[in-house]
Amino acid sequence: MTEEIRLEDETDRWKWVCPNGHRTWEPTNNHFWCQSCAGHPELDGVFYELRNRATNEEFERNDLRLLTSAGPYMDVHREGSA
Ligand SMILES: [Zn+2]
Repeated sequence: MTEEIRLEDETDRWKWVCPNGHRTWEPTNNHFWCQSCAGHPELDGVFYELRNRATNEEFERNDLRLLTSAGPYMDVHREGSA
């Protein structure tokens, strides 16, 4: 099962929280990053799943389709290509 998240739609975004319940996540290359978790001394800001606040289900990065107005979110920071 795949869920879609429109990254530029606030109501869509706010359905989803990091595993610790924050809304301050951002997608990165192969995972997610949470600003609130990163600022916590005992938490790691990097995580691999988002939680749907309505259903409490967790979805892994691979099961989420991240959409922007330009199309699917692409991993833009390709390293080692030079
Ligand atoms: Zn968090």
